Amino acid sequence: MKKIYLDCASTTPADPEVVAAMLPYFSEIFGNPSSVHSFGREAKKAVDHARETVARFIGVKPHEIIFTGGGTESNNAAIKGCAYAGRSRGDHIITSYVEHHSVLETCEFLQRNGFTVTYLPVDSAGMVDPDAVLDAITPKTILISIMHANNEIGTIQPIAEIGHIAREKGIPFHTDAVQTLGHLTIDADALNADLLSASAHKLYGPKGVGFLYARSGTKMGPFMHGGSQEKGRRASTHNVPGIVGLAKAVELAEKYMTEEMNPIIRLRDKLIKGISDAVKGCRFNGHPAKRLPGNVNFSFKNTEGELLLQHMDEEGIACSTGSACSAESKGPSHVLTAIGLSSDLIAGSLRLTLGKYVTDEDIDYTLEVLPKVVKKVRSMTEFL
Ligand SMILES: *Cc1c(COP(=O)(O)O)cnc(C)c1O
Repeated sequence: MKKIYLDCASTTPADPEVVAAMLPYFSEIFGNPSSVHSFGREAKKAVDHARETVARFIGVKPHEIIFTGGGTESNNAAIKGCAYAGRSRGDHIITSYVEHHSVLETCEFLQRNGFTVTYLPVDSAGMVDPDAVLDAITPKTILISIMHANNEIGTIQPIAEIGHIAREKGIPFHTDAVQTLGHLTIDADALNADLLSASAHKLYGPKGVGFLYARSGTKMGPFMHGGSQEKGRRASTHNVPGIVGLAKAVELAEKYMTEEMNPIIRLRDKLIKGISDAVKGCRFNGHPAKRLPGNVNFSFKNTEGELLLQHMDEEGIACSTGSACSAESKGPSHVLTAIGLSSDLIAGSLRLTLGKYVTDEDIDYTLEVLPKVVKKVRSMTEFL
């Protein structure tokens, strides 16, 4: 059976060129970059080169890049690191209701440890209002964290504006750019970001590696203890193959972002139009224009996300749902809740996220299958 992967917001396959670049760093160039001997120096050279590549890609200096174990770790490091470093000045953090769990649950942890957190609402397209950020700022605000683009509904936030407000007020500004690195152009300066999180496996790199950009001068304590790697900002031996793979993924992204992004946007829009035309009783979720290139999110009335997912999978199409108890989440999507959807629409939601390997034929097939699946699930749920 034909198998189609439309879950690129969850993870992407590593590009074969990424894998090829990583391979020598497992057994040939295996040294510890912290060692002074030639084995170590060779590995360090690779890490240094990767750091330059990543830094150039987002327009920052190499020493401002901290390699981490992925997006979740980068978010934890930025938020906890900033919160504790800023404690003498205040205890207030501003974020939004639509952040990734790794931001929300880190903030909840901090609340349990004496910090106060303001969660900003979003409009029906999932957008944070920069004026609301301004209004939420108090003399005790020590961090603002708003994601660059949402992983569920694809909405791109007005990060440059929010960052500008933060900068005017002298408050450190963090953005979770895991969904945008390699998909949208990122210029950390233009975004007015002091801290920016990214992860390799969302852009055809390996899993378990990412980075945190921390503008020099940003006060941030370490959140891992036990080593002086990354200038004491992230203890633990460098994941050299992973870091090399991340840099290769970034290099490839420089190419495909110009050559392949328009095809992805075209296929996304074809899928959106196709679903809207073919299925009655659906709602398109997220912002129509300020949207990630590969994100499609719909709610289908009188359906059940889990069942939609299962039947799509049986037809060979992998996608994801924001309904209750999916593999990734612990309940109905907090993002779909935040944009004000009724519980019926939240229950029947489906996210299809496209990547660089998706073809016209894949989208045609999806458009053939999805309306039938919705119909089938509707006929099933009628009898529940
Ligand atoms: C995937 C994702 C993360 C987590 O990244 P990992 O590398 O899987 O830990 C964080 N934020 C967003 C927006 C994501 O999409």
